[in-house]
Amino acid sequence: MSIYHAPLAEMRFVLDELAGLDQVAGLPGFEEATPDVVTAILDEAAKFATNVLDPLNAGGDREGAQRLPDGTVKTPAGFKDAYRQFCDNGWNGLIKSTEYGGQGLPHLLGTAVEEMWHSSNLAFNLCAMLTQGAIEAIALRGSKALKDRYLPNMVAGTWTGTMNLTEPQAGSDLAAVRARAVPQGDGTYQLFGQKIFITYGEHDYTENIIHLVLARTPDAPEGVKGISLFVVPKFLVNADGSLGARNDVQCVSLEHKLGIHASPTAIMAYGDHGGAIGYLVGEENRGLEYMFIMMNLARFSVGMEGVGISERAYQRAVAYAKERTQGKPVGAEKGATGAKIIEHPDIRRMLMTMRAQTEAMRAVAYVTSAAMDNAHRHPDAEARKRHQAFVDFMIPIVKGCSTETAQEIASLGIQVHGGMGFIEETGAAQHFRDARITTIYEGTTGIQANDFIGRKTARDGGAVARVVADEMDKVAQELARHGEPNLKAIGARLAEGVAAVRAAAAWIVPANGANPRAAHAVAVPYLMLWGLVTGGWQLGRGALAAQKHLSTGIGDARFLVAKIQTARFYAEALLPKAAGLAQAVTASGDATVALPAEQF
Ligand SMILES: Cc1cc2nc3c(=O)[nH]c(=O)nc-3n(C[C@H](O)[C@H](O)[C@H](O)COP(=O)(O)OP(=O)(O)OC[C@H]3O[C@@H](n4cnc5c(N)ncnc54)[C@H](O)[C@@H]3O)c2cc1C
Repeated sequence: MSIYHAPLAEMRFVLDELAGLDQVAGLPGFEEATPDVVTAILDEAAKFATNVLDPLNAGGDREGAQRLPDGTVKTPAGFKDAYRQFCDNGWNGLIKSTEYGGQGLPHLLGTAVEEMWHSSNLAFNLCAMLTQGAIEAIALRGSKALKDRYLPNMVAGTWTGTMNLTEPQAGSDLAAVRARAVPQGDGTYQLFGQKIFITYGEHDYTENIIHLVLARTPDAPEGVKGISLFVVPKFLVNADGSLGARNDVQCVSLEHKLGIHASPTAIMAYGDHGGAIGYLVGEENRGLEYMFIMMNLARFSVGMEGVGISERAYQRAVAYAKERTQGKPVGAEKGATGAKIIEHPDIRRMLMTMRAQTEAMRAVAYVTSAAMDNAHRHPDAEARKRHQAFVDFMIPIVKGCSTETAQEIASLGIQVHGGMGFIEETGAAQHFRDARITTIYEGTTGIQANDFIGRKTARDGGAVARVVADEMDKVAQELARHGEPNLKAIGARLAEGVAAVRAAAAWIVPANGANPRAAHAVAVPYLMLWGLVTGGWQLGRGALAAQKHLSTGIGDARFLVAKIQTARFYAEALLPKAAGLAQAVTASGDATVALPAEQF
């Protein structure tokens, strides 16, 4: 039986040594983020994850959310109460603006906390995550009246939020959205249409649900430039803030799905009984633009889902590997008794792969999160711009690569369990099933990769890609110059990895314009190559920091040595794949699209 324990020492190391929590906490507006507060928050979050959320995870998966005949939705046993505790403890508003009742703490701290929620109970946390997205949309572009009416309750968690983008014919391509919004002449609109796959579109946690809905007004132009964003509450809100009439929005069914069973995925019908009242956010026809502003946050959070599930799958695999006896240790004396499977070198390979990739993805994500705080709050405008460029470049990497890697890690978690991994009662299979959605929602990996080669690499002629590669090279050189043999070895492999991303970027920039079908055919390998090498970069930085502490005798030596060994494993076992990926990027595009569709 494996119980989730937040990897606090590792999280602190990444926060302090790699992401620069000290510097972030010193940014204007983060005065509350004192070292004591940070420690208390991480400790309390870890307890909540272990004691409240983790014990509900398997039961939630078995029971699932159910739609009752009256159209309401019942969440699994214990979830409603856990949600109440979650809000009572202030977790919902941790990083939200103090203006609407939040605590205004750094996104970086919220990232570590969010990882714990994803690890312990992904299906539970989706509700809070989608509410964050809806809060963000209203906070960014809503009128003062909308903000005052909705944000205090949403930040407190008394009301939850949803994002209603997808329709049957409009998934990756939101230009195809058809839901209609008809102005009523009094400043309100009536909405009509169907939205599918709406996470927590209906549930029993709270009395009201605030839907953020993409729809078209009657004279809107075709395509992406004709989509507007609306607030559509389940219950209308009276001028005094009390709840009024039931709005014309219904959950007509719930999807049966592969994973995240406790999270209701709803088909929502708007306007079947005369029209759902909605309120415009910002200006007409700019809805998609607003969604894109928010997208960084949402995509980042899904990337963190990948990190969280990977950590949980790793912890469960380690627990089993220490418990299960099978076979004899390789090279053991004749007559030796059975070994715990953790003694088998191949099990070590799998555990080290899981561990190193999880640590790499975590470090990449936390460093990106720190840049998000700096992009908003740094006092110097040039620095804000620089950090924003880095964030924009890294978001598809965090989203695309953390979630793709989570598939491999959750799958290895099953393999470590052998046959028992395939049997539901161990819990390894749930992680595998739950992880599967993360590469799909908030933009599939293919969509992330298209963004990465186009807007993030080619549009500026590869300028930001080169800046990041230069930073990685500096770390590679520092490692390679180091007298400590482990660090030297890491530096050599990292330098090869950086050479691979440079070669791939140099091919992508012209190919995106000159041979776009070939460039798009290798967009995912190109994205994964960057994920692999930026992971090595951050683990290399971690190895340097660990070595520094070891040489001064400060810190837990066992932990620090493990950081260096894990970075060396990553460098020697995983980073060599970079050269192969670069070769695939620069050579395989034409072959990928050579066959005509009818030959498939
Ligand atoms: C459990 C779950 C929860 C969800 N929650 C929400 C939610 O809360 N709100 C919401 O609005 N939506 C939600 N979604 C919808 C989700 O965001 C979409 O499923 C996702 O964006 C993909 O769209 P699609 O399913 O229509 O796939 P499609 O767009 O049809 O894609 C099918 C395949 O084609 C590929 N593809 C499509 N276009 C391109 C392209 N231009 N280039 C390369 N490849 C391409 C995709 O990568 C994919 O492999 C949820 C979905 C699920 C399953």
